[in-house]
Amino acid sequence: MMSNTTWNLDPSLESTALVQIKPQYELFIDGKWQAPLSKTYFDSINPADETHLAKIAWANQADVDLAVRAARTAYTNVWSQLSGAERGKYLFRIARLMQEKARELAVLETLDGGKPIREARDVDVPLACNHFFYYAGWADKLLEAFPGQNPAALGVAGQITPWNFPLLMLAWKIAPALACGNTVVLKPAETTSLTALKFAEICQEAGLPPGVVNIVTGYGDTGAALVAHPDLDKIAFTGSTAVGKQIQKACIGTTKKLTLELGGKSANIILEDAPIDQAVEGVINAIFFNQGHVCCAGSRLFVQESIATQVLDKLKFRLQSIYVGNPLDKNTDIGAINSKKQLETIERYIQLGLEEGAEIYQPTCELPSAGYYCKPTLFTDVAQSARIVQEEIFGPVLTIQTFRTIEEVVQKANNTPYGLAAGIWTDKGARIFGVSQQLQAGVVWANTYNKFDPASPFGGYKESGFGREGGLHGLRAYLKFPN
Ligand code: NAP
Ligand code: MG
Repeated sequence: MMSNTTWNLDPSLESTALVQIKPQYELFIDGKWQAPLSKTYFDSINPADETHLAKIAWANQADVDLAVRAARTAYTNVWSQLSGAERGKYLFRIARLMQEKARELAVLETLDGGKPIREARDVDVPLACNHFFYYAGWADKLLEAFPGQNPAALGVAGQITPWNFPLLMLAWKIAPALACGNTVVLKPAETTSLTALKFAEICQEAGLPPGVVNIVTGYGDTGAALVAHPDLDKIAFTGSTAVGKQIQKACIGTTKKLTLELGGKSANIILEDAPIDQAVEGVINAIFFNQGHVCCAGSRLFVQESIATQVLDKLKFRLQSIYVGNPLDKNTDIGAINSKKQLETIERYIQLGLEEGAEIYQPTCELPSAGYYCKPTLFTDVAQSARIVQEEIFGPVLTIQTFRTIEEVVQKANNTPYGLAAGIWTDKGARIFGVSQQLQAGVVWANTYNKFDPASPFGGYKESGFGREGGLHGLRAYLKFPN
C-alpha cells in the first residue's frame, strides 16, 4: 500500500512483462550490433531498487571512429542521394513503430531512469513519437520552409543526450537531423542507454539504411571522443553547462556547427490576481514533475507579497498528498532520483540551504528503503544571492521568494547566469505580455508550465546555451544555406 498523510492507495503496478532487456548490449554501428573494440562494458541499474538491468558496451575512441566512418559512408553513398520524400517515409515508419511499441518504451524508460510510469507513458513517449511525425512531414518541404535559400544537409552529426528525458532528447536530435538529410552518431547518457538501444532495434525494423543512425554507448569519455572526432560537421549537445563549455572549447577552430542546450534555474512568477489553486498545481507540475530532473524546471518561485502566506499554505497542504515511491506504480507522482551521484548532489544542496539559513519544509511521507529517493522540499527565507537560488540543483527542491512590484520580480527573475524558461500566473493578458517581454528566457509559459509541442522551438539565453530545437527553427540547426 502507498500512503501519504492524505490517502492510502493500493498499488497499481505497470507490468514489465512486455519488456525484454538483453543481458548485454553491443554498439549499434553501420546497422549491426558490434562488440566494442574497447572490450569494456558497464552496468545499467534500476535506480528505483538498485537492481542490475544490463551490461552495456563502453565505446572508446576507435569505436567512435568506426561509427563516424559508417555515418560518413551512409551519408555519401545513400542518405544524401535520397529525395526528401523518401527520407520522410523512413521517418514516418520509425514514428509508427515507436507508437506501436509505446508501452514497452515507457516501461523501459521508467526502469532505467526512475521516472514515474505516468510521465514516461503520457509525456516522454508520445512527445518523442510526435517529434518523428512532425519532422517526417518537413523532410520533403525544406525548399518551401526556406524559400530562395537553397537549404542543404550538413553531413554527419555527433549528438550527445542527458538522462532526464532519454528517448525524447534522442527524438529532438535524430528526427530533425535525418529529415534534413544528415546521418548521425548519438551517445546517450550512461545511466539511461536502454531506450536509445531499443530505438536502434526500431531503426533496423524500419529498414533504415545501415549507418544512417549509429548509437555509441559509454561515459563522458565516449562523449568527449565523439566531440573531438575530426570528421563531423555538427555537434548537438544537451546536458550541463559545465560540460557544454568544455564542448564549446573543443569546437573552437573547427568547422563544426554547434548547438548547446544546457542548464537552467527558471523563475515561476505568481501575481496577486492569479487563479491561486491553478497556480499552486502549476508550481507542483513545474518542479516536482520528474523529480525536478527537468532542465526548464520552475525551480525558483516568486509570489507577490499579498498572497504569499496563502500560496505557501496551499503548497504545503498539496505536498502532503504527493506520492513518492515506486516509479512503476501509476499512483506515483515523484519517482526515483536518476542516480546515487545525483541524489548526493541534491542532498548536498539541501544541507547547503540549511547552512545558508533558509527555512525548510518537507512533507511527512515515507521513502522506500532501497533505491534513490528524495522528499519534495521547499525553502523559504532565501536570499537572492544564496547558492540554492543561483545554482541548478536538478532535484525536487523549490526556493520561494516574495516581491512587491513587477520591476522587482523581473530583476530578480533575470538575476541568475541562466535563461532557459519562465512561468507567469495572472488573470490579465496585458501583464502576461508585459512581463514575458522583459524576461530573459527562451520559453515563457503563461498560466501553465512544462507544455511542449514539436512545432514550437525550445532553447536558452545566457548560460542555458544557444540554438533552438523543435519547430521550423530546429531544422536550421541541421542545414547550411549556400545562398
Ligand atoms: P552532463 O553531465 O553534462 O551529461 C550530458 C551528456 O554528456 C551525457 O551523455 C554525458 O555522458 C556526456 N558527457 C559528459 N562529459 C562529457 C564530455 N567531457 N564531453 C562530451 N560529453 C560528455 O549532464 P547530465 O547530468 O547528464 O544532465 C543534466 C543536465 O542537462 C542539467 O544541467 C540539465 O539542465 C541539462 N539539460 C538541459 C536540457 C535543455 O534542453 N536545455 C535538457 C535536458 C537536460 P555520461 O552521462 O556518460 O556522463
Ligand atoms: Mg539506469
